Amino acid sequence: STLTSSSADLFEIRRSDTPRPQAERDAALAAPKFGTVFTDHMARVTWSQAGGWHDRRVEKYGPLLLDPACAVLHYAQEIFEGMKAYRHADGSVWTFRPQANAARFAASARRLALPELSEADFLGAVEALVATDAAWVPSGEEKSLYLRPFMYASENFLGVRPSLEAEFLVIASPVGPYFAGGVKPVSIWVAQDYHRAGPGGTGAAKCGGNYAASLLPQQEAYAQGCEQVCFLDAATSTLLEELGGMNVFVVHADGRVSTPELSGTILEGVTRSSIIQLLTDAGHEVDERPLPLAALRAGLEDGSVAEVFACGTAAVVTPIGRLAGTDFDLAVGDGQAGAVTSRVRSELTDIQYGRATDRHGWLHRL
Ligand code: PMP
Repeated sequence: STLTSSSADLFEIRRSDTPRPQAERDAALAAPKFGTVFTDHMARVTWSQAGGWHDRRVEKYGPLLLDPACAVLHYAQEIFEGMKAYRHADGSVWTFRPQANAARFAASARRLALPELSEADFLGAVEALVATDAAWVPSGEEKSLYLRPFMYASENFLGVRPSLEAEFLVIASPVGPYFAGGVKPVSIWVAQDYHRAGPGGTGAAKCGGNYAASLLPQQEAYAQGCEQVCFLDAATSTLLEELGGMNVFVVHADGRVSTPELSGTILEGVTRSSIIQLLTDAGHEVDERPLPLAALRAGLEDGSVAEVFACGTAAVVTPIGRLAGTDFDLAVGDGQAGAVTSRVRSELTDIQYGRATDRHGWLHRL
């Protein structure tokens, strides 16, 4: 859809006087390593309670100058988003359902008592930045420009109350496949002693603190020989919630598909909702419901669960080949990517990269 309003025209473009030489850029685009190299510019909008959102601009990418008393450094009043710009074969550049990211960002802002940014400004910042750094959008299989919008409390004040000042920025980084080695099944450690989010907490918001809390359990997963951690609900420790940065789906042998319902403690993934739509289109019955770990373990043991996969913007769809916890260690199917997992992954990436009809109007031209 290209009908959504955007404030891109309101952004003042202040070009960098030191953009990277083309050779350096080409080298970065040839073999991008996730989140390590950033484009020449960043989009930025400043907020104060007195003046509202102002100073919409694209400026040279560079360090932020923070006062040691800057609120975000103390109370983590910060939110972010993750999305991608895809280059199609004809050279045009598109984002995928950016309105959903704008809406989720506004919801995260409300939960973190940060000022809401309008959809027009969210899209405007993305459009203005990608237009300025268009040469940084890679072409080729599985490559894209990862976009990271974020907002932080910028008032220099140690009182515990919502900041009266905030900064919104968008930075961009060319990326290839998220997991080195391509689409191969990952192993999952089910965390029993740590939770990511609790009822009434910030689990449904995309705030930095949630990710800080996931790092220690993620380390535990590594120590157990697993690549990713899966969290259980904090209230009962019996229901699957999500991974540190991805939602989870279970494919039953009879073709039904289940994914944890939006309980208030998991993130509403844009990929998750797109996959629910694509699987429904393909004739699968998809249910969003509580997903007991015990039922999944039983299903893996008796073969009634055929596939498990994780999904999110960065890694798209990732097959899960093994599920382990303190008292179990189970293979999923034959440990390889399943048929439903592989098909939904290619259906989604075919739409994103313009190889299939965008029948739901998910693409937004930049
Ligand atoms: N859950 C968490 C905790 C995440 O960080 C992400 C990544 N944003 C997701 C799920 C997947 O969301 P999306 O499909 O919108 O990227």
